[in-house]
Formats: sequence, C-alpha cells, structure tokens
Amino acid sequence: MRRTPALIVGGGPAGLTTALLLARAGAPHLLIERHAETGDALCGGFLSWRTLAMLERLGVRPSALNRDHIRRVSLHSGGRRAIAALPRPALAVSRWRLDTILAEHARTAGAAIETGVTARRHEQGAIHLADGATLTADTLFLASGKHDLRGLARPAEARGDDPVLGLRVRLGPAPALDRMVGGTIELHLFDRGYAGIAAQEDGTVNLCMAVHRSRLEDAGSPAALLTQLGNESPQLGERLAFLAGGTTIDAVANVPYGWRETAGTPGLFRLGDQAAVIPSLAGEGIGIALESGARAAAAYCRGGRDAAIRYQTGFADATRRPIGVAGMIWHGSEKPALAAALTVVARLAPSLVGLAARLTRVKHSPLDVALAGRES
Ligand SMILES: Cc1cc2nc3c(=O)[nH]c(=O)nc-3n(C[C@H](O)[C@H](O)[C@H](O)COP(=O)(O)OP(=O)(O)OC[C@H]3O[C@@H](n4cnc5c(N)ncnc54)[C@H](O)[C@@H]3O)c2cc1C
Repeated sequence: MRRTPALIVGGGPAGLTTALLLARAGAPHLLIERHAETGDALCGGFLSWRTLAMLERLGVRPSALNRDHIRRVSLHSGGRRAIAALPRPALAVSRWRLDTILAEHARTAGAAIETGVTARRHEQGAIHLADGATLTADTLFLASGKHDLRGLARPAEARGDDPVLGLRVRLGPAPALDRMVGGTIELHLFDRGYAGIAAQEDGTVNLCMAVHRSRLEDAGSPAALLTQLGNESPQLGERLAFLAGGTTIDAVANVPYGWRETAGTPGLFRLGDQAAVIPSLAGEGIGIALESGARAAAAYCRGGRDAAIRYQTGFADATRRPIGVAGMIWHGSEKPALAAALTVVARLAPSLVGLAARLTRVKHSPLDVALAGRES
C-alpha cells in the first residue's frame, strides 16, 4: 500500500491546476491519470476571455492555444439566425492541446504525475487501483470529471429523468467551412438539445452537442440524429456536409447539468465537474475546472484537509449564479418555441447576449491572493 499526503485523481484541467499549484507551493502530492497518453476529451473547447485570463495567470499564453480569436456568437434556431459580439475575444482549442500544455506546465513546476493509472473505487478511505494496488491519502482531490468514481459517485438523481448525452464530431478542414464558422462560436438550438460549432487550432471544426437521451432514441443512432438535424436545419446541414465519411462520433453519457456539491466532506476536495456542472452551452466548464483547482490548492495550503468543507461550500456559492443562469437558458433553448423566441430577442437586442455571456462566468480569484491564503 502506497501513501501520499495529497492524492489527485484525474489529470484534466481541474486536477492539473491543483497539481501545478501544489508543486509551486512545495506541497507533497501525487496526481494519477488513467490515460497513458493525453487524449482529446469530448468538449467544445470554447474558452472565454475570463478563462483565458485565468490560464495566463497559470502561465499559459492564449497564443499557444490558438492564434485565431472568436469575437462573435451566433444563435441558430428554426431557420432564424442572430449574431452578437462577445464582451471580449475568446477562442476554441482542442482538449488535446490544452491538456498537453497544462500537463507540461505542471511537470515543469515539479508536479508528481503518474499516467496510465486508473482509480477503480474508493473504499474505507483508500483508493483501489485497476492494477490491484491501493493508495491512501490524508486528503483526496477528486478531479475525475465526467466520470464518477465508485464509492464517491455524484447522486444518480442529478442526471434527471431524461439524461443528457454529449456527442462530438470533427468537420473539415476546408476553406469554405472556415469562411462560414471562422471567428464565431455558433450555437444551433434544436428540440431537446443544441450543437456548438467552433474552429480549433489545427483548422478543423469541432461540432459538440448535448442532447437528451429521448431525442437520440427517437432518431435511432447518433449518425441518424446528425442526418435528422441536418435535414431540419439547412444552416446545420451546410456545416454537416463537411463531415468526412466514416468519421467516428464520440459520446459521453449522463452529464448531470446543474449539479453542485453544496455540503462537502472532511479531507475531500471535489474539483471541476465533480464539484459543479454548468450546462455546456455556456462554454464555462473549463473556467470552473481551473478555478476550482486553484481555490482547492490555496485552501489546502492554508488549512490542510480540514479546509475541504469551507472550500466546497464556498465554491458551491461561487457557481450558483453562473449555473442558475446557464440552466435557465439551456431549459429554454431546448424547447423549439422558446428557442425561436430567444433567437428573435437576441436579434433585436444583441447586447442581451453579451449580458448572458457575462452572467454565466465564474469569478476567478487573483492567483497570488489565493495562494497567499486569503478568501476572495
Ligand atoms: C457536450 C459538451 C461540450 C462542452 N463544451 C465546453 C466548452 O466549449 N467550453 C468549456 O469550458 N467547457 C465545455 N464543456 C465542459 C468541460 O468539458 C468540463 O467542464 C471540463 O472538462 C471539466 O474538467 P475536469 O478537469 O473536471 O474533468 P475532465 O476534463 O473530464 O478530466 C477528468 C480527467 O480524469 C481522468 N479520469 C477519470 N476517471 C479516472 C479514474 N477513475 N482514474 C484516473 N483518472 C481518471 C480522465 O481521463 C480525465 O483526463 C463541455 C461538456 C460537454 C459534455
């Protein structure tokens, strides 16, 4: 049995941020990540101006992610389209690129990261690994993201009666597609779901959607759903025409939009999607992951394992408004009549779109203050 003072399970944006900051603070820790090589997690990859500022504070330059900015958001619903300016420039990046750069930064700072190590379950204070070994820790940072760890799973009710799935395909690259999508984050709203479309750093276009299971079942399969959506919406159909034949459709099940850990447990810091899950059309999940990782590291350096409950309840407060506002927009946008009304309102008053974009951001604490140990 191995022992570490602080064990981080999961090497996505949340876990890597904590590892990076614990390393900088000289706090002994170990991060385990189940994938041996950095993969390209299913994600829209949209990073808001606030998330980019947070990444800069962590030492990651936006230009290292994608040199092309996103300055507009366009809403599409039932043949209508509304375009609005974002409050500040944003960008989209593949998760492979983002996670690779964050891991490099963490390792350079001295973070202890072991890849290809899978936590199977949490039982009686210990983490049991897939290879049969056991790890114990005084403090656990749970950063397994979209995947629950047996023994510490988020409540099944959080998924709702008609759970949400994430699907992702890549389009292009093609100059004609770039002319359509470049510089814009597109949100295509449809019955029981939405698709977000944005160009990433390698010129390909990421189409990532969240859809209720009932809609997918009505269509029959992910491929049939794409065909159906392309037929329903000419604008989406134009973009889907750039889908290469035989492209794989990635999927993730049971995304518990709206869930937040509001109580907390001594010695357990839940980070990222294990702390709070914002509806993904807000494009703020990575911002939340980074902020939770930074706040948890600061709280731990200040108060050790006993700081976990205060951190968790404070983070639940910090995410209440962005998740509440994003939830209202998400629930409206998945009903065709309301989605059409939203698009008309956005066309008449584009400044409201900018306001919604602002209200769905989490507030980031200045890193130096957080590491100095003061609450923001
Ligand atoms: C359809 C969809 C679109 C989205 N689009 C956007 C967007 O455009 N912008 C945005 O900001 N957010 C978006 N999000 C949300 C964003 O992807 C998440 O909020 C973010 O990835 C959370 O980061 P994390 O570090 O908590 O978890 P993750 O990114 O899920 O990382 C968790 C890590 O833990 C590892 N892991 C899991 N289980 C174990 C285990 N048992 N043992 C060891 N390692 C383990 C995984 O391999 C992974 O590397 C989207 C989400 C969905 C579903």
